[in-house]
Amino acid sequence: MAMCKLCRLDKPLCQSHIYPEFLYATLYNDDGRMMGITGVGRRGWTLVQKGLRDELLCRECEALLNERYEIPFQQQWTNRYPLPERANEGEMFYAQFAYATFKLFHLSILFRAAVSSHPMFGVVTLGKHEDIIRRMILGGDAGRVDRYPIFATALINGRAEIERRLIAAPTLTRVGGHRIYGFTFDGVLWWYSVSSHRNLEFERGGLQGNGAMAFYVSPWHEHAVTQAAAKALRNPRQRLRPAQRNGT
Ligand SMILES: [Zn+2]
Repeated sequence: MAMCKLCRLDKPLCQSHIYPEFLYATLYNDDGRMMGITGVGRRGWTLVQKGLRDELLCRECEALLNERYEIPFQQQWTNRYPLPERANEGEMFYAQFAYATFKLFHLSILFRAAVSSHPMFGVVTLGKHEDIIRRMILGGDAGRVDRYPIFATALINGRAEIERRLIAAPTLTRVGGHRIYGFTFDGVLWWYSVSSHRNLEFERGGLQGNGAMAFYVSPWHEHAVTQAAAKALRNPRQRLRPAQRNGT
C-alpha cells in the first residue's frame, strides 16, 4: 500500500507506464525486434526504453487514464495518423481532434513524468501546477486554451520522412517565464507550456479550443531539442505562415 499519485488514496499500486505501450508500436518490426535508429545519441537525444515503469497509480486510476484518455487518443491519433510519410522543412499540416481528451492525454503524460521518480523524467517538476493538473485529469477538465497550451513540431529525418521511431526523454526549456517541456513520441516533438501567465505564441500556434492543431515540420537531426525550441519561439511569423500543404 502506498499513496496513488492521482487519487491520493492509500492503495496497492500498479507498475505504471509513463509513456503508454502503444506509443512504442512503430519502434518494432513484425518480429518484435527494435528497428535501427541512425544518428540517435550524437545529437543529445536520449531514448526511452520500452517497458519503463514506475509504481505510480492504483488500478482504478490506471483504468481511468486508459479509458478516458489513452483509448480516445489512439482513436484520434494512432489509428488515423494525420501526418504524411514524407514532409519538408517549413511545411505545416493541420489535424482535427477532440479538444478535451486530446489535451488531457498529453497532460496525463506530463503528470506521470512529473510524479515518476525515474531519473529519465527528473527534469519534469511541476511545483504547484502538479496538483492543478492532477485535478484536471481526475475531473476531465481540460481547461481553456490559455491553460497549459500545447504546441507541436513534426520531426523529419535525413530522408525527409516523418520520424516515428523516436521516443526521447523530456527536456526543459525556459522561455519568457514559462517552463516548456518537450516530449518526443510518434513523429512529433510535443511542447507543453507550464506557467501561471499566458503563452500567446503557444495559444496562437498550438492546439485550438475547437480541437484544430498545426504541426510545423522541422528536421530532428539538425537541432538539439532546446535549439529547436528557441528557434521556433523566436520566429512566430515563420511558424504561422499559411500552409503549403494541408494535412486534413
Ligand atoms: Zn488512484
